Amino acid sequence: PRLVDAGADTEDTAVEAALRPKDLDEFIGQEKVREQLDLVLKAARARGATADHVLLSGAPGLGKTTLSMIIAAEMAAPIRITSGPAIQHAGDLAAILSSLQEGEVLFLDEIHRMSRPAEEMLYMAMEDFRVDVIVGKGPGATAIPLDLPPFTLVGATTRAGLLPPPLRDRFGFTAHMEFYAPAELERVIHRSARLLDVAIDAAGAAEIAGRSRGTPRIANRLLRRVRDYAQVKADGHITVEIASAALGVYEVDARGLDRLDRAVLEALLKLFSGGPVGLSTLSVAVGEERETVEEVAEPFLVREGFLARTPRGRVATPAAWAHLGLAPPQGAPG
Ligand code: ATP
Repeated sequence: PRLVDAGADTEDTAVEAALRPKDLDEFIGQEKVREQLDLVLKAARARGATADHVLLSGAPGLGKTTLSMIIAAEMAAPIRITSGPAIQHAGDLAAILSSLQEGEVLFLDEIHRMSRPAEEMLYMAMEDFRVDVIVGKGPGATAIPLDLPPFTLVGATTRAGLLPPPLRDRFGFTAHMEFYAPAELERVIHRSARLLDVAIDAAGAAEIAGRSRGTPRIANRLLRRVRDYAQVKADGHITVEIASAALGVYEVDARGLDRLDRAVLEALLKLFSGGPVGLSTLSVAVGEERETVEEVAEPFLVREGFLARTPRGRVATPAAWAHLGLAPPQGAPG
């Protein structure tokens, strides 16, 4: 897997658990979300009630799981963690819902990937704290209503727009998580370094932050690789020189592009003079599948303003030429 992938890999899970902020005060960045959530939770606590259902939307690795655990911690409630793809049948969901304790937080990751019947069961559970359990099959089937204890659903999705409106509307509060600013990632890195007992200076942290694609998960992962390098090649202290040498070894460049990202940009610039060029042609030139180029490399290149998708094909921006240290051809667009 790529070092700069925002998704979790198996190595992450254990370390991430250790690095997770435990309460809202420890949670870095996302000021608006934190302020709003703080109000929602404080008000619920003051009323002695269960918090409203919360929808968290945002890219992978920005802290949705972490926030759901914080919600549970702040409400002094237990948490159950599951995901949309794990709920194939309505019965799977009924089993989970009917075993919840009063006030429990149910974290449903990738909620947009739940099956349709489960989704419909969830509507009623969210609104009335009730499910109809279907017993039997065919004409003899009967619905047995089952009351549920009040609970807080925390749903997570990469985009709120992926949810059917009836589901979206049943959340009392929707928080959109943004990518983190470099200064916020620096704080994440300093905090993690402290927890991992690694010495790092300000410039070293800034260097890693700049390559972390706005994503705390990536920042923490890069920090671990830089730590390895610092231990093996130096005295364990992370400085800017160590950070950039280490990430050079891993081919993560100053803006967080990796080998694949750079291969796509280089092909676009050197072989097609910056485009426009069709996705298929570009993919063949890079020697990758269309899907890999389109879904793995391009979103970040577009977000960073290096590449534009136009009706005529992929086009490099002036920033792309500058980043690769190349001069755009005379009369190039932009
Ligand atoms: P996915 O959707 O891929 O599961 P996620 O959005 O749920 O990702 P988390 O697992 O919550 O992401 O966070 C990934 C890592 O980043 C964790 O190790 C967590 O400690 C760290 N992290 C996330 N947000 C913050 C933050 N605001 N402050 C400090 N660390 C953070």
